[in-house]
Amino acid sequence: MVDAVFVGGGVIGLSAAWRAKQRGLDVLVLERDRAGSGASRVAAGILAPDSEAEPGNEPFVPLARRSLELYPALVEELGDVGFWPCGMVVVAVDSDEIDQIRHEFRGLDWLTPSACRRLEPGLSPAIRGGLFSEQEASVDPRRLVDALAARVPVREGVDVVEIGPDCVTTSRGERIHAGRVVVCAGAWSGIAGVPVRPVKGQVVRLRGELPAQRMIRTEHVYVVPRQNGEVVVGATVEERGFDVTVTAGAVHELLREGYRVLPELAELELVDVSAGLRPGSPDNGPLIGEWEGGILVATGHFRNGILLAPITAETIAALLAGEAPPPEAAPFSPERFARV
Ligand SMILES: Cc1cc2nc3c(=O)[nH]c(=O)nc-3n(C[C@H](O)[C@H](O)[C@H](O)COP(=O)(O)OP(=O)(O)OC[C@H]3O[C@@H](n4cnc5c(N)ncnc54)[C@H](O)[C@@H]3O)c2cc1C
Repeated sequence: MVDAVFVGGGVIGLSAAWRAKQRGLDVLVLERDRAGSGASRVAAGILAPDSEAEPGNEPFVPLARRSLELYPALVEELGDVGFWPCGMVVVAVDSDEIDQIRHEFRGLDWLTPSACRRLEPGLSPAIRGGLFSEQEASVDPRRLVDALAARVPVREGVDVVEIGPDCVTTSRGERIHAGRVVVCAGAWSGIAGVPVRPVKGQVVRLRGELPAQRMIRTEHVYVVPRQNGEVVVGATVEERGFDVTVTAGAVHELLREGYRVLPELAELELVDVSAGLRPGSPDNGPLIGEWEGGILVATGHFRNGILLAPITAETIAALLAGEAPPPEAAPFSPERFARV
């Protein structure tokens, strides 16, 4: 019997299991497909605590900032996972987007179109200005999950169909006992009774000479360059249940909007188009901690699971080891959705 079994081998389950293992716990990750085959493999890897903040969800910013602060140490331990503290240029393509962006990023200096193009010469001459959010970074989620999966015991091809506080049952009828059960099944975490829904996102992956040295974002699209020559253009946000069909319309829209801001995108090789399911909670904030029936959950990370993986892992590992969890995670206790 292990100390903790983790249901779901995405970035959340793998990083939490790894941090728990480092605290001396005997851990096992159960993954019904391949480790990292869910949303974590599709994600762009933007680590942007400030641009992802939404009105009405004030506790998100300290949680996300703390998680970003944990990244350099994590990268030091894991090796090259494509971490790049390159910052993000947020650009207005039409003049009616200027007010919206200035409002969203109060406190940052507005840059004229020519100042934006001095920063990033590949930007279209048609842009109307923008700003530079310097502290935002990116990571390659595929390399991140591969590095994590190499550091924890994972059983792939194991579909968990029933969950209890100290035992899970697989589709083959096997019962796996553990001191604690942690549900990190992403958009499928409803298996533990938590209110999480799938929110589809499609992204396009290109390759070639980088059209920018920083991430570029408009109101309609983002472009994430990586130092290995990959360029990710994303992402749609669609409420379509458990559907991961890649659609021509989404690809058309992403490339059109990307091309409007960075015309050189058109020269790159198209290498991959994928769709994934973000785990969304009713308030779009994560659920990290004790859930009903003695189960631990770490899910509902919506658009920010890559960003929030380090702080989520610290929180779950601390709870498993009987330590005090990071205070920034307290507002994200799953108890806010308890059914009794
Ligand atoms: C298009 C797109 C772009 C994104 N961009 C970003 C970004 O730039 N920055 C960012 O921070 N976040 C981003 N995200 C969000 C991020 O991908 C997710 O929040 C994160 O990957 C969630 O991780 P997870 O481990 O909870 O879920 P997943 O990665 O989905 O992993 C869950 C795993 O559980 C397994 N599983 C499910 N049910 C069972 C079961 N019953 N038994 C066994 N295994 C099971 C699944 O097979 C899966 O591998 C993006 C998401 C999408 C879709």
